[in-house]
Amino acid sequence: MLNIQNLHVTTEGKDILKGINLLIKPGEVHAIMGPNGAGKTTLAMSLMGNPNYQFKMQNAKFKINDKNMFKLTPEERARAGLFVSFQHPVSVIGVSVLAFLRTAYKALHPQKPIKLSEFKETVKKSLLQVGLPEDFMQRSINEGFSGGEKKRMEIVQLLVLKPRYAILDEIDSGLDIDSLRIIAKAVAKIVKKQKMGILLITHYQRILHYLKPDFVHVLKEGKIAASDGMALVTKIERKGYATI
Ligand code: ADP
Ligand code: MG
Repeated sequence: MLNIQNLHVTTEGKDILKGINLLIKPGEVHAIMGPNGAGKTTLAMSLMGNPNYQFKMQNAKFKINDKNMFKLTPEERARAGLFVSFQHPVSVIGVSVLAFLRTAYKALHPQKPIKLSEFKETVKKSLLQVGLPEDFMQRSINEGFSGGEKKRMEIVQLLVLKPRYAILDEIDSGLDIDSLRIIAKAVAKIVKKQKMGILLITHYQRILHYLKPDFVHVLKEGKIAASDGMALVTKIERKGYATI
């Protein structure tokens, strides 16, 4: 399982996260909601090992299957099974989607080599699954992609790279309702099939109707202010975050 205890994170000398506890088991979907600036993206970035964020180590724990993540580089964390999608994915001109995915796959799964032809099939299937045409595999990553296409590309990475735990930062923002359904269904399917654990950062209940989280947490001013099931989402939709 993914185990976070007493996580404090600072950036630019500012305390952002002030004691986060989370336990995510394989196959569980946890949603994190919360007002702008609460620290949701900081949580995602710091867990992946972004050097702009510093942990306070006193009594803190961050483990995947009993392996301490704090000491690992981002690529070692990825190899341990962690995946983080970007809220604002970057373009990489001159690196094709296929080349990027192939390189990442080889680095993450050295013990499971796949032939190029077979790998291309997997990428094609994953593209089609999120509603992108197969010729996207030859395009530069995110170069000239629309906002929605970039979000879909994050999910293609998830489908191809098959991490144990994925943190998805606002993958539903800026998506139309049909795209949203397609993406949510693709994630729900892989969660079930691979027993992937998901931490889904979102502002909207819509995606949660498709993805059906086991737990919903509200992050407020760097702390988890409430945790419950879908009932909490209904409450937030009705009353906002003020009363949480
Ligand atoms: P959320 O994703 O919940 O909207 P963020 O984690 O992006 O919130 O931001 C939380 C707070 O941390 C905000 O006040 C933001 O300005 C601040 N913050 C995040 N990253 C940095 C940074 N690199 N430098 C300075 N402040 C930052
Ligand atoms: Mg954010």
